[in-house]
Amino acid sequence: MSTEMQKYIDEAEQALLHTYNRYQVVFDKGEGVYLYDMDGKRYLDFVSGIAVFALGYHNEAYNDALKSQIDKIIHTSNYYYNVPAIEAAKKIKEISGMDRVFFTNSGAEAVEGAIKTARKYAYLKDGKTDHEIIAMNHSFHGRTMGALSVTGNPHYREAFEPMIGNIRFADLNDFDSVMAQVTDKTCAILFETVQGEGGIYPATEEFMRKVRALCDERDILMILDEIQCGMGRTGTMFAWQRYGIRPDVMTTAKALGCGVPVGAFLMTEKVGANSLVAGDHGTTYGGNPLACAAVSKVIDLFKEQDVPANVKRVGAYLEERLCGLVKEFACVTERRGVGLLQGLVFDRPVGDIITLAMEKGLVLINAGTDIIRFVPPLVIEEKHVDDMIGILRECILQIEGERR
Ligand SMILES: *Cc1c(COP(=O)(O)O)cnc(C)c1O
Repeated sequence: MSTEMQKYIDEAEQALLHTYNRYQVVFDKGEGVYLYDMDGKRYLDFVSGIAVFALGYHNEAYNDALKSQIDKIIHTSNYYYNVPAIEAAKKIKEISGMDRVFFTNSGAEAVEGAIKTARKYAYLKDGKTDHEIIAMNHSFHGRTMGALSVTGNPHYREAFEPMIGNIRFADLNDFDSVMAQVTDKTCAILFETVQGEGGIYPATEEFMRKVRALCDERDILMILDEIQCGMGRTGTMFAWQRYGIRPDVMTTAKALGCGVPVGAFLMTEKVGANSLVAGDHGTTYGGNPLACAAVSKVIDLFKEQDVPANVKRVGAYLEERLCGLVKEFACVTERRGVGLLQGLVFDRPVGDIITLAMEKGLVLINAGTDIIRFVPPLVIEEKHVDDMIGILRECILQIEGERR
């Protein structure tokens, strides 16, 4: 590492609050599926800013759309209309089949909005304020107090208690565990269609259908968090679209703006007409012209390039190659995931492998201590998968080695 890069890292540790154990690298620019650090070293990127930069770096059409919006207007208040937000809302309705959109600045805020929507919907029905939400163990929904309250990881919550009240936890794909938590106060059942942070666990079709039927029967809102698994990552625009059902409320963020901070929560017309009204919710930045110009262009490019088709094809190939590693190495126990949201489970912590991969010019990330998560740009090709597997194999051989 150059002394210049080391100097910046030292300065970062003096100035930034230490809420991350950062890898020892300063990224400077990107090109396609590659990142470059300050010293000009190239890295193959299988993280894409954690499922954000779906279109690859330095995408000219995307950059140009942002530049021209910057020269027009970056921000106006939500007290006025703006064309990019109207365009983006129409497009996101079209790709999701949902009816009403509220733009936020982040994923956590989208989850907050979804929670408020559910509480208001239930409140309008019976005037009470004791409604309950069922969330899942091992879930991740963000770091704000509301989103943290529905995050099924006690370690993230402990120091910040008390959380918001009336949250109950069940297990994903265990419908009986959900039934055990349902009461006449339940107003929503919330989960990720594919759990990301918690270890790459896709919801089963049976679970999805049973929850949907339960929610219909009892007028409970089914809320799906698609912040990580949505926007084409599993081969359909939203992961729930594979299951032949529709949620009542959904959240999106991460790849929605491909790097410009933006999220959204969406709902059906029925929920929209019976929940939040003027004065109930708001945001200064959410849905501003710059963020929405990004959303609008991202959706256009997804269509033009048929990104979901690429995900299906390359995702299947990635799956096959990862299964090869499970067969080859005793320390690799399982592959899980859908499309370009994949996890490789090891019988030990994966930190050393990830650090070694960085040295060899490959960016990977974990999900929990024992799982390597693969969330590359959605425009990667088979040859990039081959390159990644080649480096990862070297790392496994170098660190723990043993073949089956
Ligand atoms: C990343 C993530 C969030 C939180 O999004 P932020 O933009 O970091 O607030 C919420 N839910 C899921 C499933 C996520 O992956």
